[in-house]
Amino acid sequence: MTNSLVAEIQVQLKKAPTQLKVFNMLSDKKWHCRDHEGKPIASAQYAGGGGIQGLERGNRSGRRGLVIEAESKNCQVCDRRTRHDVGQVK
Ligand SMILES: [Zn+2]
Repeated sequence: MTNSLVAEIQVQLKKAPTQLKVFNMLSDKKWHCRDHEGKPIASAQYAGGGGIQGLERGNRSGRRGLVIEAESKNCQVCDRRTRHDVGQVK
């Protein structure tokens, strides 16, 4: 992944602030807890049309975008297993 691709996607998402926040969080290649990290920035939209699904939709239509993997992992902050997401810009 190149920084220019990240910058290009950030420009494309300027009109979609929720997706931009989710993108910025997930594009650092680290796992993020959907409960305590995702919900505060995007509330119920996090995994819906305005959040993850919206980001992935861009990818399916042939545009480059964020490929998101989700897994259940133990979260030390939530003190239980939660869904975690990690993104890869492709
Ligand atoms: Zn958590």
